[in-house]
Amino acid sequence: MKNSTNISEIFYSIQGEGSFIGMPAVFVRFCECNLRCPFCDTKYALNCSNPMTEIEIFKQVESFRCKNIIFTGGEPALRDNFIAHFIKKYPQFRYFIETNGTIFLQNSASLLDHIVVSPKMFALNLDVLKKYKELKAEFKFVVDENFDEELKLIDLLNLTDVVFQPIWLNDTPQSYIEKTKRIIEKVKKLSINVRIIPQLHKILYKEEKGV
Ligand code: SF4
Repeated sequence: MKNSTNISEIFYSIQGEGSFIGMPAVFVRFCECNLRCPFCDTKYALNCSNPMTEIEIFKQVESFRCKNIIFTGGEPALRDNFIAHFIKKYPQFRYFIETNGTIFLQNSASLLDHIVVSPKMFALNLDVLKKYKELKAEFKFVVDENFDEELKLIDLLNLTDVVFQPIWLNDTPQSYIEKTKRIIEKVKKLSINVRIIPQLHKILYKEEKGV
C-alpha cells in the first residue's frame, strides 16, 4: 500500500519565525488540525484534502535543492507516523517541525533536528508540554501586549529560555513596530530570558500564501 497523506502546500521560502529566522527551507504544510484558533492564519489548511504519496512529496521537496525541511500545518503531530517514516527513508535532509504542543510526537520526536512548540493558551496539555521541555524543544509564544497567561505557563513549566513573537493582527508595518517596541519594554522588566522575534513573513508578505 502506498504511504500517503493530505498536503495543503509545499513551497520554498525562508523561515519567518522563531530562532531559525531567515533560514532557507522547504515548507511541507499538512492538512487538518485538532484546534480551531480564532487567530489562525492558515485556515485554508484546516479542512483541505489533497492526498500525496511519500514519493510525490519527496520529488517536490528535492526539486528545490534545499536541505532544510519544515513540517507545519495545520497540526503536523497528527501525522507522526508518516513523518517518522519519511525521515527514516530520506535522512539526507535536516528536519524541523512546528507543533501546537497538544499531541506528543511519539515516533518522530527523536528523529527531528529541531522542535518548535507554540502553545495555545486555551488548549494546553501540560503532560505533553513537559515531554517537549525534556527534549529541549524551543517554546515560542505568539503574544499580544498582555501576556500574563503565557508568563504563568512559563513559570509552571519552569522554562528559562523562550521566544516571544508579537502577533500580527491587521497591523501595518508601522503599527507592528510600535507594538513590538511596547512588548520589548514589558519584557525588559522580566527575569526570564525572552528572545523577541518579529513575524518576519507577515512584515514581508502579509497574508500571501506559498511564500
Ligand atoms: S493550532 Fe495552529 S494551525 Fe491549528 S488552528 Fe491553531 S493556529 Fe491554526
